[in-house]
Amino acid sequence: MTPRWLRRAFDRYGPRRGLEIVEGDSLPARLPRRDLVLAREGDEDWCVGMRCPCGCGRTIELLLVREAKPRWDLLTDPSGRPTLKPSVWLRTGCRSHFWLRRGRVEWCD
Ligand SMILES: [Zn+2]
Repeated sequence: MTPRWLRRAFDRYGPRRGLEIVEGDSLPARLPRRDLVLAREGDEDWCVGMRCPCGCGRTIELLLVREAKPRWDLLTDPSGRPTLKPSVWLRTGCRSHFWLRRGRVEWCD
């Protein structure tokens, strides 16, 4: 397993994460190693998913639809790098807390 300090250095200095878009209202069963996946149906964005950046293997699914609570905003810059608002904070398991800004995971702890 990759040590945590190395994983975090890669988050900070490695390549930014990209965004893949899939058609439909749900995420595929298998997510890419680093990139985020956006489930979009027509012009409606449903949810975004990623593997937990701590390496625990968990899938993080964040709802984007207006009616959801909690919900997130997904923004992309001109080169397609994703930003999420607010931060992601897992209350169970690894308890990861981070921001995703322009394709980079910024840890809160
Ligand atoms: Zn985790």
